[in-house]
Amino acid sequence: MVELKVPMMKQVNLQFDVVVCGGGMAGFCAAMAAARSGARTLLIHDRPVLGGNASSEVRVTIHGAGCHHYGMRETGIIGEAMSAERRTNHLLPIENGWTNSVHDLALYDMVQREPNLELTLNTSIYDVQLEQGGWGSQQMAVWPEANVDRGYYLRPCCHDGNRILAVRARVANAETDLLVYGKQFIDCTGDALVAHLAGCEWRMGSESREETGEVHAVSKASGDTMGNSIHIRCIDTGKPAPFELPEWAIQYEDAAFFLRTRAQAK
Ligand SMILES: Cc1cc2nc3c(=O)[nH]c(=O)nc-3n(C[C@H](O)[C@H](O)[C@H](O)COP(=O)(O)OP(=O)(O)OC[C@H]3O[C@@H](n4cnc5c(N)ncnc54)[C@H](O)[C@@H]3O)c2cc1C
Repeated sequence: MVELKVPMMKQVNLQFDVVVCGGGMAGFCAAMAAARSGARTLLIHDRPVLGGNASSEVRVTIHGAGCHHYGMRETGIIGEAMSAERRTNHLLPIENGWTNSVHDLALYDMVQREPNLELTLNTSIYDVQLEQGGWGSQQMAVWPEANVDRGYYLRPCCHDGNRILAVRARVANAETDLLVYGKQFIDCTGDALVAHLAGCEWRMGSESREETGEVHAVSKASGDTMGNSIHIRCIDTGKPAPFELPEWAIQYEDAAFFLRTRAQAK
C-alpha cells in the first residue's frame, strides 16, 4: 500500500494589542484607527484584496450621502480612502471606473504605510480560544442552537463575561496556521463569525418599527433579510452583441416570484 505523506501545517504564534477580523470597509477603518492610536494591530482578511463588499470583487461602492458630491464630502478614514482612490484612479467615478482594482490598491497602500499595522491576506479565521472553556468550535455542540423566536432567528448569549484570548486562522496557500493572541478583538467579518464562535448573542432578520423607531422598518419583526442582487455591466459596443445565457442560470417565468415575501412563500 502506498503511504500518503500529508505535509504538516506550519504553526505560527503571534501577539498583538488589537486584532481586527475581516478587512471590509469596517475592518479597514477599525484597523487604521487602532494603529493610529498607538496599538500594535493585525488585520486578518480572508480575501486577496481589501474592501469586502466595496472591493473590486463585489463592487458595492462606498456610497454615503456625500459620495463625490460637490457640496458634501465623506470625512475621516473613509474620506481619506476615497481621496486616495481618486488621486490614483483616472477613470470617472461611474460604472466600473470606481470600485476596480485601483480602489483595492488604494486601501492596500494606506494599510502598508501605517507603521503599527500588519496585514495578513488570504487568511481565514476558523476558531476562537476562550478564557473560560477552550475552543469555540468545541463549545458549539453544547451551546443552544439559534431558534426562531418572534419571527426572527436568535441565539442567546452563551458566555456572559467571557473573553477571547486568541483566534485561529489558516493561510491555506502558505500551509500555515496562525494562533493570534490579542488584548482586544474587533469582529468585522460582516457575518459576526468571531462573535458567533465566542458564544455571543446574535440575531438575523428584520427589526420591527417599534424596536428601532425607524419609519421605514417593518411593523412586525421577521426573519426576512435582503434579497440577492447580481451586478452586471453593459456597454454600447456600437453593434448587436447577443447575450448568451449561462447553462447554469435559473430561469423564473413568473415575475410575481420576486415580490413574494418569505411568509407568503411558505
Ligand atoms: C448587493 C448589495 C447592495 C448593498 N447596498 C448598500 C447600499 O446601498 N447602502 C449601504 O449602506 N449598504 C449597502 N450594502 C451593504 C454594505 O455593502 C455593507 O453594509 C458593508 O459592506 C458592510 O461592510 P463590512 O466591512 O461590515 O462587511 P463586508 O463588506 O462584508 O466585509 C467583511 C469582510 O470580512 C471577510 N471575512 C469574513 N469571514 C472571515 C473570516 N472567517 N476570516 C477572515 N476574513 C473574513 C469577508 O471576506 C469580507 O470581505 C449592500 C450590500 C450588498 C451585498
